[in-house]
Amino acid sequence: MIEFREVEKRYPNGFLALNQINLQIEQAEFVAIIGLSGAGKSTLLRCINKMHGITGGSLSVDSVDVHQLKGKGIRKLRRNIGMIFQSFNLVTRVSVLKNVLVSFVPNMPFWRKMLGIFTKEEKLKALMALDQVGILDKAYVRVDQLSGGQQQRVALARTLAQNPSIILADEPVASLDPVTAKQVMEDFKRINQEFNMTIIINIHHVELALAYATRVIGVRSGEIIFDGRACEVDEEI
Ligand code: ADP
Ligand code: ADP
Repeated sequence: MIEFREVEKRYPNGFLALNQINLQIEQAEFVAIIGLSGAGKSTLLRCINKMHGITGGSLSVDSVDVHQLKGKGIRKLRRNIGMIFQSFNLVTRVSVLKNVLVSFVPNMPFWRKMLGIFTKEEKLKALMALDQVGILDKAYVRVDQLSGGQQQRVALARTLAQNPSIILADEPVASLDPVTAKQVMEDFKRINQEFNMTIIINIHHVELALAYATRVIGVRSGEIIFDGRACEVDEEI
């Protein structure tokens, strides 16, 4: 479970990006955080894996106080929390399979990554993750030969192979066309249901949020202005 208690995030320049956030997210929820650009969605998401440190209140993940974590503790937290970005963050000049492999094996020595030495077991795990998002046939294709939607699926497979219990996705469909965006949302929904993974995505596209997530949280000026089941949200949000 993720728990925010009176969380405040003030950036070094003094800007208060999160104000008095109280929020509980249970295991296996599929949450969409909606709001205009600059509302604080990305800040909120990035506090969960400590990409940003909070400046007030407390935040815990599975009863661990995130604020207290240092080096090793942060790495452990991030192994349990997969993160997906709008820009995919893939290595475009190597194969899909290699992109998945280099990122999910924890503490892999640099030379093994460089030389591309992986065990059969590791390869199998990576291939299974690709199969889960429907791009097994692209395993040996270079990432720069894939469409945007396929690249986002590679990013999703890479995260799945890491076997996290939580996936955070920061505007994962913002740069995709409407049809592809829906397909990627379908993937999230299926993964949420099949593996009981907690999924929290930032999305400015309200209809997509309502159609796929089970809970929708509205953020405005660093505050939560709405929190409810997707089927209860009205038009005005
Ligand atoms: P969203 O994801 O909803 O677009 P963000 O969380 O990125 O919003 O940003 C929330 C607010 O915090 C914005 O007004 C933004 O300009 C500000 N902000 C983001 N990062 C920083 C930073 N490093 N320093 C100061 N202000 C920031
Ligand atoms: P933190 O201090 O929590 O580590 P970062 O320094 O990583 O935050 O800031 C994240 C990014 O947010 C920065 O690269 C910065 O360019 C961007 N940013 C967004 N809005 C603003 C803003 N209003 N002022 C400064 N930086 C901002």
